[in-house]
Amino acid sequence: MRKRIKDEFTHLSVSRQRKYQLRMKRDRRCTECGEPAVQGSRCLKHLVKARERQRKKRGLKRRYHGTLSYRLEAAARKQRRGSSRRALPVAA
Ligand SMILES: [Zn+2]
Repeated sequence: MRKRIKDEFTHLSVSRQRKYQLRMKRDRRCTECGEPAVQGSRCLKHLVKARERQRKKRGLKRRYHGTLSYRLEAAARKQRRGSSRRALPVAA
């Protein structure tokens, strides 16, 4: 049997999922998939997903292009230029 993880979150009375999120946050990794987070609490993929999810839920019309997830998207696009990998789908 695997040993239980023993850390500062072990004895908190929150859900298993929340503990996972707290551990990921502590280790600066994405709180959803565990990939290294560039900045903030999620990887780029999940930053964008969370952004679009919130837009839909709140019915927002404007886009704030100075925001972290947009800037990281732009940087990622630039980096990927010329490679054979498919670019990330971008909502208009
Ligand atoms: Zn992620």
